[in-house]
Amino acid sequence: MGLRFYNTLTRRVEDFVPLREGEVRLYTCGPTVYDFAHIGNFRTYLWEDLLRRHLEFRGFRVVQVMNLTDVDDKTIANALAAGLKLEEYTRRYVDAFFEDLDVLGIERAEHYPRATEHVGEMVDLVTRLRQTGHLYESHGSLYFKIDTFPGYGRLANIDPAAAADHARIDSDEYDKENPRDFAVWKARKDDEPYWDTPLGAGRPGWHVECSAMSMKYLGETFDIHTGGVDNIFPHHENEIAQSEAATGKPFVRYWLHAAHLIVDGEKMSKSRGNVYTLRDLRARGFNPREIRYLLLSVHYRKPLNFTFEALAQSRAALTRLDDLAFRIERQPPSAGSDPALRASLAEARAGILESLDADLNTAGAMGHLFDAVREAHSSLDAGRAGSEEVAAVRDLLALFERVFGMRLGQEEILDAEVEDLIRRRTEARARREYAEADRIRDLLGARGIVLEDTPQGIRWKRALGAGTRTGPQGA
Ligand SMILES: [Zn+2]
Repeated sequence: MGLRFYNTLTRRVEDFVPLREGEVRLYTCGPTVYDFAHIGNFRTYLWEDLLRRHLEFRGFRVVQVMNLTDVDDKTIANALAAGLKLEEYTRRYVDAFFEDLDVLGIERAEHYPRATEHVGEMVDLVTRLRQTGHLYESHGSLYFKIDTFPGYGRLANIDPAAAADHARIDSDEYDKENPRDFAVWKARKDDEPYWDTPLGAGRPGWHVECSAMSMKYLGETFDIHTGGVDNIFPHHENEIAQSEAATGKPFVRYWLHAAHLIVDGEKMSKSRGNVYTLRDLRARGFNPREIRYLLLSVHYRKPLNFTFEALAQSRAALTRLDDLAFRIERQPPSAGSDPALRASLAEARAGILESLDADLNTAGAMGHLFDAVREAHSSLDAGRAGSEEVAAVRDLLALFERVFGMRLGQEEILDAEVEDLIRRRTEARARREYAEADRIRDLLGARGIVLEDTPQGIRWKRALGAGTRTGPQGA
């Protein structure tokens, strides 16, 4: 069985067949750069990164586009409030976004088009829609007339009459004939930024940004479009309407959407104080690998409940994987042989790939991985595993590293994590929080790190003696 995805458009799991053999053209809705991205956003970006990595592993060339929304209601309002030009205001969050991608080990897309640099393409698209009778004007703004597009509501599985109720939430201060209709071009207003165009002075609506930029880089019909479930309506529904009304062709073949992330069982919200950015979590001492692991460990179509306890469990799971990686690195050549372990490793490898092929079932893949990790540890404990098995373990861990995008047992990564913990311990001591300092020392001890307080500061070393990092970890 090959790759299959759940397609929001058809509400079925479908075999994946790209338009061009060997190539996948993928559009991933990107950030609105008015603030730092939070872990809910990163859940989606990390899943998209896994999708990309798995497609690549399966031999596809991926052309991925992720837009940067650097002009919309939110960026404009915040820039005005901060007394900055739009570009000055958004620059900080664009930089932070790319920094976060690197920190989390997210592979770069081929294109990161910015809305403000593609206004010409948006004007062209709006012009096509106007010429074909899909728009009407009201006070200088242009609206898409939903009645002219019979398929409206198909993605969100709502009939257009019901869509009216949803869309009122999204409606703004402009006059519309019908509350479902949405602005594709917004007339210039007061001190807002604007462009002088053949459509008049104004700026594009948010939805039209994604339609214009995706079609510019990927063509009028492309393979996969992704986002969070909250993008389905109205954003993606509107993208389909605008794009297909303009081209007369199907816009996207597979629509994939990631479920919500909740925190401690509750919706993330500023008022609850549970909106965490990557910076917040790092300040609490969690490292990027642990965050990445947790956010990938739940199947993308299931809600993910983020807790600090779950983050600590991710740390423990990674330690088990690091232990095995270290252990096989230091394993002397052995003439041993363990056919049962070899069979388990082959089964795990097939199981991981089959799980990922089946709509990116990451939780299933991790289950197969840990079955094999447990067996590898006990075979090594019993002295059964030989060089052939050690090589197979190495291959299995390499598969995980490549597709899940996390390196294991690498000295430099672990060193960086250790330095981070030591820094936090020093800070805790400076604040006279000795219990916290001791807790961190124990945490380091559990990783086989020995600290020495010297007049020159803290020195540390890894206790590499037999058994300090290794040993069976139980189920
Ligand atoms: Zn979008």
